[in-house]
Amino acid sequence: MAKTSQDATDTPLRQRLGIGLEKISMVLKSQAWHDANLQGLTPTQGKILTLLRDRQPVGMRLSEVADVLGITSPTASDAVAVLSKKGLVDKQRSTEDARAISITLSAQGIQQAEQVMGWSDFLLSAIDDLTEFEQEIFLKGLIKIIRSLQAEGYITVSRMCLTCQFFHPNQYPDSQHPHHCGFVDAPFGDRDLRIDCPDQLPEEAEV
Ligand code: SF4
Repeated sequence: MAKTSQDATDTPLRQRLGIGLEKISMVLKSQAWHDANLQGLTPTQGKILTLLRDRQPVGMRLSEVADVLGITSPTASDAVAVLSKKGLVDKQRSTEDARAISITLSAQGIQQAEQVMGWSDFLLSAIDDLTEFEQEIFLKGLIKIIRSLQAEGYITVSRMCLTCQFFHPNQYPDSQHPHHCGFVDAPFGDRDLRIDCPDQLPEEAEV
């Protein structure tokens, strides 16, 4: 059979996946800038608010914020200083370590964080177009990519099941819920794998 121009320019699947992820990343960035602008924030300030929303009421240290977002400490410090001036965050002594400063959201900050969380609603609508099966496969693929990027040091380790001491994979191989979470002491399936779980205990930490 004669080669078509489609065959000649056929791009390997891995490359097409990379291009697809890049396009999604560009849309997310431009949407974040647009929405941030409307709320008088920068995307980094917006990300800090949503991050802190997840960690209330304990809050986070500045170095932790910088680590999780993959930004430098001075950048995180500048963004937090602006948020503090706007009355959106408070700084107080950490309840876990009296020498450390913990950053938490003020009541106004919580409200603003909830608005910021709506920035990615358009993406959730697009994800809703996938079937449950497609979502499950996509989640597994994403987790593998994230883990691999973490291993290479491109992104910081997040609070995922795959790096959690409580995670016992494939404990029940013939079940629809093959994995076991030691924290809640219950089985769960691939579609319930977490990427940012507040109860995660990193593999290297002491139990
Ligand atoms: S505690 Fe959270 S991260 Fe750890 S296994 Fe259970 S659900 Fe996953």
